[in-house]
Amino acid sequence: MINIQKYLFFVMILTFSIVSFAQKNQKFVIVIDAGHGGHDTGARGVADLEKNIALDVALRFGNLIQANYKDVKVVWTRKTDVFLELSERTDISNANHANLFVSVHCNSASNTSASGTETFVMGLNKMSQTDDVSRRENSVVFLEKDKEKYEKFNPNDPEAVIAFEIMNAAYKEQSLRFADLMEKTFINQEGRKSRGVKQGNLHVLRNNASPSVLVEIGFISNQDEGTYLASEEGKQKAAESLYKAFQEYKREYDRRSGVDGQQSNEDKPIKVAETPLVGKKLKIRVMDSKTKFSPTSPQLKGLTDLDVVQEGDNYVYYLGETDLQSRADELLNTVKRKGFSKAKIVEVESNKKLEGVQNYRVQFMTSNKKYRDKDDKFNGLTNVLRVKEGGLQKYYFGQDKTMEEAQKTLKQVQEKGFRNSFIVTFNGENPM
Ligand SMILES: [Zn+2]
Repeated sequence: MINIQKYLFFVMILTFSIVSFAQKNQKFVIVIDAGHGGHDTGARGVADLEKNIALDVALRFGNLIQANYKDVKVVWTRKTDVFLELSERTDISNANHANLFVSVHCNSASNTSASGTETFVMGLNKMSQTDDVSRRENSVVFLEKDKEKYEKFNPNDPEAVIAFEIMNAAYKEQSLRFADLMEKTFINQEGRKSRGVKQGNLHVLRNNASPSVLVEIGFISNQDEGTYLASEEGKQKAAESLYKAFQEYKREYDRRSGVDGQQSNEDKPIKVAETPLVGKKLKIRVMDSKTKFSPTSPQLKGLTDLDVVQEGDNYVYYLGETDLQSRADELLNTVKRKGFSKAKIVEVESNKKLEGVQNYRVQFMTSNKKYRDKDDKFNGLTNVLRVKEGGLQKYYFGQDKTMEEAQKTLKQVQEKGFRNSFIVTFNGENPM
């Protein structure tokens, strides 16, 4: 049974703390939550996974705020590719006394023509059009250890709903305001299509003691929108739209609190948070080994998404790829904390082509048997090259001139079930 009186008391305390925060002129705290992460990949887009796009946009968005506002503290729930439970995200937000919580996600639908942005606030209306999104964004709880903690809240119990609505009332109006600003900015700044502001029972929003929204920055299942959102331009534009909406929200917040905030930047150009590198990218060279470890091997200490490249007798394990120095530093720290003390940042030229007949291929299978092209064993991979080496038949797929393309091919092969595959440099049809 829910005790309404207890909640009313809680609401009074919350209301009191909102007022006192504003009066003390403390820093405004925004918690930015990149959806998913680690083994929770989120939706699978045409060009990238939801967890990667969400993280990239979340970092850019927060970096813009940091570069332009001295009176705002930015907290990210995650800055790298790690798994977080939904309740951990809420805990981070509440522990930091957030004034605003923004969870960044990408949409996906089996109908690949679906497109546009939409923003959700927590709401329990019966006519919810958001069942699909709620189901998908809540589904991560099945990857969590204690699912039951979310089931304690029953959206069909009228008493629980009333208690929730009372609690949520303090934040709902502001949540709706920020949601509305974001959707308007997507239209006005980027010419994007908006599907509007909606309400749903979203676990990641429900227990936040602050105005909270979940923004779906577009459908990555859609060919055009998915390609755009995976591109540098698309991610930057999306982050700038979120930032513009934040500027307006913060102005209104300052006006309301009677605080002479930063009177921020309406006419000033946005200071770029950090200039992305041009013509080159940064990766983490995690380790070298004579052994090819499987992705679940303990030697990899739980790092997922490593790219393995055979260089001579060595297997080199790389992680990440970014055009931001700060992002690379962050990744390096994570990798070192995992115990890879020799890890370092390496520069790679973007789109550097191999010379002459050199090319990259992906080795996905080794066997003592000879298989013909299109064999069922290849799980649909065709134009497979077979090379005999040391009494074994090695099977290769793809033929790319740049490392970027080879990495895409590698992902494609891994998704066919060959999790253990890696990239090898070839001279024509011979491994180098
Ligand atoms: Zn999501």
